[in-house]
Amino acid sequence: MSYTELKREVFEANMELNRRNLVVYTWGNVSQIDRTKGVIAIKPSGVAYEVMTPDDIVIVDLENQIVEGKMRPSSDTKTHTHLYRHFESIGGVTHTHSTYATAWAQTQQAIPCYGTTHADYAYGEIPCTAVMTDEQIERDYEEETGVQITDCFKTRSPKEVPMVIVAGHAPFTWGKNAADAVYHAVILEEIARMAYLTKTLQQQTAPLKQGIVDKHYLRKHGKNAYYGQK
Ligand SMILES: [Zn+2]
Repeated sequence: MSYTELKREVFEANMELNRRNLVVYTWGNVSQIDRTKGVIAIKPSGVAYEVMTPDDIVIVDLENQIVEGKMRPSSDTKTHTHLYRHFESIGGVTHTHSTYATAWAQTQQAIPCYGTTHADYAYGEIPCTAVMTDEQIERDYEEETGVQITDCFKTRSPKEVPMVIVAGHAPFTWGKNAADAVYHAVILEEIARMAYLTKTLQQQTAPLKQGIVDKHYLRKHGKNAYYGQK
């Protein structure tokens, strides 16, 4: 894929984030990787969606050096590149401060899998990272945000759970490309909203039983999936 095409796809994905009302002002960013070229395209830092053009998208390598672009890349770039380096199956990353997912992040609680809507997209709870230590904050805040996330996935697969909430901060999601990462950001916000309502109605609601989680997740994903059209 040429840089022009990559920038166009990332531009469209960033605009979709805005259209879906997941961002306020400039709070949010989407990127996509070209693994053969070893570069990502990412939203420029602090540029309003209303005035952004595909040409403003910045091309950066996996060591965070600008390869092409006249703007500074998103201040969260190091978190994105960390995720691409550690999650080899992913092609796109999205970060938002969408309201309900961020509220869960602020309570520093994982989002339990309460129902099949959740189980259709994520296999088990949506993890919440640990709170960052003072040493990490001083070392390299954005890179360490990535470390916080990948630490949550030592015991789970980023493919089975394509989303996370960062304690005290907000969500990150990923997918096979930028558009898929945005799709998961939209789904996560809806899952977070339903979970909030569920827990509000009944504080002690139990997570969905494992047999139903398995049924719903595995009928859409995995080798014996049968949901949707062939
Ligand atoms: Zn943020």
